[in-house]
Amino acid sequence: MGRVIVLFGAPGSGKGTQGEMLEKQFGLPRVSTGDLFRALPDEGAGKEIQELMAHGSLVPDEKVIELLKQELAKSAYENGFILDGFPRTVPQAKALDALLAELNQALEAVVYLDASEAEIKRRLGGRWTCRECNKIYNFRGKPAAECSECGGALYQREDDTPHGIEQRLRTYRQKTAPLINYYQGKGVLRKVAVPDRAQKEDVFKLVLKQLGAGTENKRK
Ligand SMILES: [Zn+2]
Repeated sequence: MGRVIVLFGAPGSGKGTQGEMLEKQFGLPRVSTGDLFRALPDEGAGKEIQELMAHGSLVPDEKVIELLKQELAKSAYENGFILDGFPRTVPQAKALDALLAELNQALEAVVYLDASEAEIKRRLGGRWTCRECNKIYNFRGKPAAECSECGGALYQREDDTPHGIEQRLRTYRQKTAPLINYYQGKGVLRKVAVPDRAQKEDVFKLVLKQLGAGTENKRK
């Protein structure tokens, strides 16, 4: 049995960034449902999912779970993994519990990145994506014109525009925020208060502190 860590928080709270840092720190693979969706073919079910995401809607649970089940069955995840962007609803959390039992894994911790709404809006508004390689940039000031990795053009995904951001936050408050109580009840929630304009390294220290404090008495 390995370590299974869920990164949880509103869009823009820094799950992707902290997930990458945790991946390096612990040598655990990171699974982002957003990346899995974006890697889907541009037709059929893949196209349907991409359109839902572009409109800030949640992808139906059964589709996400099916996709995740296929992915997590790979041997690369035997020693555990970091989940980023899943679960987003209470039914998904329950499905994850069942899936982990099936995989003989147990959830060690849910790291909740608690950032203020003002901070979230500031961050999401500065987010641009490369059309060619999908690299995501976070600009604090004027955005660059092209990708520094591949020279591709940068654009703002529909869900990173002010209207899209508002919609995503509404979905988060209604569907995802109830997970805080769900995981608190299970004793696995590790809340990290993210200071406004914090550097990622400083947030990471807080994350590690929460995980360190939670690992000794929670491991089975
Ligand atoms: Zn690029």
